[in-house]
Amino acid sequence: MKLSDMFSDPPVGKTSSLPKPEATGWTKRFIDDLAAKMAREVGYRSGEALEPIVTELGGRIVTGNVPETGSTGYVEVEEGGKFLIALSPIPGTYRNNFTIAHELGHYFLHSRLGEKPLFATRQAGHRAEWEANWFAAGFLMPAEEFVEEWEKAKGSIGHLINRYQLSGGAIEIRKKTLEELGHKFD
Ligand SMILES: [Zn+2]
Repeated sequence: MKLSDMFSDPPVGKTSSLPKPEATGWTKRFIDDLAAKMAREVGYRSGEALEPIVTELGGRIVTGNVPETGSTGYVEVEEGGKFLIALSPIPGTYRNNFTIAHELGHYFLHSRLGEKPLFATRQAGHRAEWEANWFAAGFLMPAEEFVEEWEKAKGSIGHLINRYQLSGGAIEIRKKTLEELGHKFD
């Protein structure tokens, strides 16, 4: 193996001179609907792997070590629209699926599908981070479908974890959010 091969993937937690994402200011409901539309547009079906969608959009995913505790990953969108999503291997598949969709949220909402270069790491309390989370939930668990799946699962979170390939926490938060948005669960 050449030495250069060992350094081909950048470490998670690096810094960049690219601008930080700017919040759109759009409402939770609007972003939720938009994310479901985007999922349909790119042919994403809930529960499936996200990697093919990322590749299709001109992105790639790398996994690396996290030097800063609490950092789950980042996305960097270059001039020209190519992008890189970096993940920590530690949280596992379910958490990483949410993180990939969160980073796609920055790509769709804040870089406008690759038009604006940016570098986004998790910044607690920043509105752009909430927006990326709202996008991720809407993209991975579209509202109407989720309500149906919840009813089919008859209260089994385990069933929904398996159905969506997401953590129990993400499933619970999704239910709460949809109740806030006026969806009814039996
Ligand atoms: Zn983020």
